[in-house]
Amino acid sequence: MVPVPADPLEMRDVLSILDDLVAFPSVALTPNVDLIYHIEGLLRPHCTAIVLSHDETATKANLFATIGPAVDGGIMLAGHSDVVPVDPDDWDTPPFTATRVGDRIFGRGTADMKGFVACVLALVPRWAALDLVRPVHVALTFDEEDGFHGAPILIDSLADAPRPSSAIVGEPTGLQVVGAHKGCYEYTTRVTGMNGHSSQPTEAVSAVHHATRWIGGLLGLEAELVDRAPADSRFEPPHTTTNVGVVGGGLARCTVAADCEFEWEMRPVQGTDASFVKDRMAAVEASLLAEMRSVHPEAAIETEAVCEIDGLEWAEDSPALDLMRALLGGDPPVGVVAYGTEAGLYQAAGIPSVVWGPGDIAVAHRPDEFVEVADLEACVAVLARLGDQLTR
Ligand SMILES: [Zn+2]
Repeated sequence: MVPVPADPLEMRDVLSILDDLVAFPSVALTPNVDLIYHIEGLLRPHCTAIVLSHDETATKANLFATIGPAVDGGIMLAGHSDVVPVDPDDWDTPPFTATRVGDRIFGRGTADMKGFVACVLALVPRWAALDLVRPVHVALTFDEEDGFHGAPILIDSLADAPRPSSAIVGEPTGLQVVGAHKGCYEYTTRVTGMNGHSSQPTEAVSAVHHATRWIGGLLGLEAELVDRAPADSRFEPPHTTTNVGVVGGGLARCTVAADCEFEWEMRPVQGTDASFVKDRMAAVEASLLAEMRSVHPEAAIETEAVCEIDGLEWAEDSPALDLMRALLGGDPPVGVVAYGTEAGLYQAAGIPSVVWGPGDIAVAHRPDEFVEVADLEACVAVLARLGDQLTR
């Protein structure tokens, strides 16, 4: 398909909208309602419905807007409103001011992912002016960058909303279509034993020793996880991995440790692997606890989930991939990536999803983050074609 140039007026809108979005320092875990209300104000004249869903403090909000008829089968354009923190000393330009230098726009979130959001918002008036038979939805979340707290609340808020037939999650992929990513499940486990003198270990319960046995059980699953990898896995390595990244506990060499805490993760290539690991570790834990409690009934092993982000599982016949083929023309290459996105959560909620957006993931989360103006132009030109999909 011959690339259609972006409309110059729409590009002017993209850049001015991006200026405004970057100026909101919507760092993850801090309030984002000012930004969401600003975006709601831009959308309101063009939308048939806007649903806001808040966290329990009401200082953070998700937005789900509908342009066109309130029917199933629309296309959801999804992003997060938050950004990662900055240290201004590391930046050559002010991080919360979109600054154009040559063909690049610098600023926190320009790539990840306010650039995509600006493209979408600039196109809303165009879509609203069409006689759409299926809607465009704009979905924006909070706290994606730290725990993915917003998306599950947004998904819950859509129980009575029209059901999109596919979603494009506009993370920075350099405009390459991404059809799968591993999940990311992060945990902190705390082991509580009973201290004592190391010369009398049978009269105490070492939290460190039991923690190492728990960790040994986790690491011992590797061969089975290798065996469980789907034959057509597109990931490298192809199987689910686990990692224990931090361990701490105990007081001194001659003391039986009463406490031990460790931080660990798994990156499942398929949802069933996550339940496999949990089931196996529940059995390991039950036998450790039985031993520990025979000496000290208050002994405990407690695991706190920091986040459980579903992977985006490969689906060759995904309507979302078909959509990208229609928008891009032909049969574009479809890749996989190593980072997690909200696409896995949307897929798990029944909305087939792909990841595709302007900007380079390599500059995201770093000082001097930028997006190329050419990427924004190409993004606008491709998304503008959604109108063709939704008017027939
Ligand atoms: Zn992102």
